[in-house]
Amino acid sequence: MVSAEGKTILVAGACGFIPGHLCEYYLNLGARVIGVDNFITGQRATREILETYDSFSFEEHNIFQSLPKFKGVAIDYIFSMASPASPKDFGEIPLEIMRVNAEGTRKLLDLAREKKARFLEASTSEVYGNPEVHPQGEDYVGCVNPIGIRSCYDESKRYAEALTMAYHRHHGVDTRIVRIFNTYGPRMRPDDGRVIPNFIGQALRGKDLTLYGDGGQTRSFCYVSDLVSAINAVMFSGDPTPFNCGSEDEYTVKECAQLIISYLNSPSGLSYKPLPEDDPVRRRPSLEKIYRLCRYRPRISFEDGIKKTAYYFKNLTP
Ligand code: UDP
Repeated sequence: MVSAEGKTILVAGACGFIPGHLCEYYLNLGARVIGVDNFITGQRATREILETYDSFSFEEHNIFQSLPKFKGVAIDYIFSMASPASPKDFGEIPLEIMRVNAEGTRKLLDLAREKKARFLEASTSEVYGNPEVHPQGEDYVGCVNPIGIRSCYDESKRYAEALTMAYHRHHGVDTRIVRIFNTYGPRMRPDDGRVIPNFIGQALRGKDLTLYGDGGQTRSFCYVSDLVSAINAVMFSGDPTPFNCGSEDEYTVKECAQLIISYLNSPSGLSYKPLPEDDPVRRRPSLEKIYRLCRYRPRISFEDGIKKTAYYFKNLTP
């Protein structure tokens, strides 16, 4: 397999949760990494970690307005990972999300075309919306409410996928698409509003874990190092069509809360809050394609992943 060693990699959204881990993975493999972030949701602490590597350089930049000048810089691989992705963000910064996925993605694709770089779009399971088929395979075209509260993300990621395929078909850009399912791990923002940081934070503080609705909706949770392996496997595959990336370990939100309480020996109980609008009822990827073509399998169990993540949060909050 071709590898990233000695190559130059541009990561848009480098100080976000998943991209930060991806940058570190490539830095450890001996690549040069250029990170770009405007810190709308990225973390400055991640920049500090990445800057401990000599082969990391950073540009603070809002990519939907413009890209930094890369005159004379050879770039081999571009990762488009700059979109905020938490449901909390959908309510707070919908226009920024739409602009980065539309205008930002187009600028990155133009750069890939100019530099003859391979481009990867970090898409999402949200393109399936509230799915009517289960598990979701890549050929399922989704069930998205175009005017709902989540549509700023769902529809702009669908557009980003369409744009990626158009650049591939019409301009011959070498492209890849990953559809990322629920991922968790150290360096998530503790206040990001998503279920795993909320539940771990509540369990560590002995507060009730807040179930939205009856907690019967399902998600499949993947630990971040497994997700990075999946993204890398797709980048170095030969297939421009989308790949689901994640884990098939499916739990109801209530089961997830009970497991976290037990893994962390927490005295917390459960409480109930209203279900947000358009909250998907069931979500689980079919990973058949990535197993078959990339031989990818997640390795970290939910228990180990939760304990590693809780260790991180515990040391953040004295
Ligand atoms: N959720 C919950 N309690 C919380 C946060 C989230 O019950 O404190 C639920 C949410 O309604 C959804 C699931 O957990 O059904 C996953 O939510 P998350 O925000 O992590 O991401 P999503 O998969 O919805 O994008």
